[in-house]
Amino acid sequence: MSRLVIISNRLPITVNRMDGELHYHPSAGGLATGLNSLDDSYNKIWIGWPGEDIANEWEREAIRSDLMKRSLVPVFLTEREIDLYYEGFSNKTIWPHFHYFTEYTVYNDEMWQAYQEVNFKFFQAIEDILREDDMVWVHDYQLMLLPAMIREKFPKISMGFFLHIPFPSYEVFRILPWRKEILDGILGSDQVGFHTFGYMRHFLSAAYRITGYEHEFGRLTIGDRQVNVDVFPMGIEYDKYAHPNVDAQTDQSSGEIRKLHASRKIILSVDRLDYTKGIPHRIRAFGQFIRNNPEYIGKVNLIMIVVPSRANVDQYQSLKTEVDILVSQVNSEYGTFDWMPIHYYYRSLNFAALTTLYKEADIALITPLRDGMNLVAKEYIAAKDDSKRGVLILSEMAGAVYELNDGAITVNPQSAKEIEAALIEALEMDVDEQHKRMEEMQEKLKQYDVKHWAATFIREQQKLKEKNKMHH
Ligand code: UDP
Repeated sequence: MSRLVIISNRLPITVNRMDGELHYHPSAGGLATGLNSLDDSYNKIWIGWPGEDIANEWEREAIRSDLMKRSLVPVFLTEREIDLYYEGFSNKTIWPHFHYFTEYTVYNDEMWQAYQEVNFKFFQAIEDILREDDMVWVHDYQLMLLPAMIREKFPKISMGFFLHIPFPSYEVFRILPWRKEILDGILGSDQVGFHTFGYMRHFLSAAYRITGYEHEFGRLTIGDRQVNVDVFPMGIEYDKYAHPNVDAQTDQSSGEIRKLHASRKIILSVDRLDYTKGIPHRIRAFGQFIRNNPEYIGKVNLIMIVVPSRANVDQYQSLKTEVDILVSQVNSEYGTFDWMPIHYYYRSLNFAALTTLYKEADIALITPLRDGMNLVAKEYIAAKDDSKRGVLILSEMAGAVYELNDGAITVNPQSAKEIEAALIEALEMDVDEQHKRMEEMQEKLKQYDVKHWAATFIREQQKLKEKNKMHH
């Protein structure tokens, strides 16, 4: 049976040390679900960081053998590596830069050094495990140098790489002093995947201008290798959001939300606290909407779920302060004795609460300034599988817009005026129109779910593998 070796920064399981004991929590992201759903024709092995600084060698050994039983291989990172590779180069250099926040990009050689070293550490962790006939799938912006490292030692191995964030235009990408190394790293794979056509185009143009490789219909020839670059928009686990398992307690809280909802329309936003998400712009636009349309006072609520994230990076701390201030400005300016315009929660929700909100919200207001995909938008649509009621307002800058633009009201997130107009359109939209739009979007999301995403990526890679075999 052929093996599929998945490599990502994080394992789908997080290790915690509590009261001197080791605990394992599944971190069930979409990626894990998609991969688990792949048919059993592959033996899957997953390699990544288990998420805590484990320095003690006997403890590492214990974790290694526990994880081995689940076909997981841990890569342990030191505190310094977490600081410089993960919070540093990954989240202070690549993350802002690839999202066009170039003024936030940190240029630091020590971080770059650590990024190279940790990519190599991942390589060392697998070099004795890998076999030339394995299929390898490397994920995301933390591991862009790894494919080339693997390629050097395993020239014939079948390897894919998927980037979960945007790939910026050449003019932005080329600002990075390490642009060539990053491209060469990714191009070690023989299939490179992106969420949207635009990201793919930017990548191909950067590859041409920086490394000189020309492509033909997305296929690059590098020495005697072919590299196929393609678009694979990631989907969600549709049924999980369409038919969530609700218990009695959730039912109760959904009853409470419904009570609030009886007299007021709910506008919902859910995102990590991140400068890419356009949270301050959204609050200002909502404030402007109330100011210009006082007939909606007391008739709508903006429920904002803001999930804490990367709290030890400077920009995230100042963003938190900015959001706190803006929310309190809007609430203090427009609130009445029996009405608070914005209900703001700075915390993460459990799955039941999240899906209840999705189900109950009349409008989802999702306005990132830049977002690789945005899964929240898709989850909201899926949650309306029964009711078919609800309107999605979606930023043009989210990768998800290319699949949802028929049904969503799309906005430029920088334009408070457009957001205001979209809110009015959504609040006034008749039920038949909502139905029609929902159904259209749901059809797509049902068909192109996360299982489809993983299966397509692997199927295409398998085809390349067969072709290369014949070639050699
Ligand atoms: N999410 C969560 N807990 C919460 C709120 C959101 O687990 O309290 C999930 C949400 O269901 C979604 C993910 O976080 O799957 C966010 O993904 P998205 O692509 O929208 O943005 P990202 O955070 O990856 O930039």
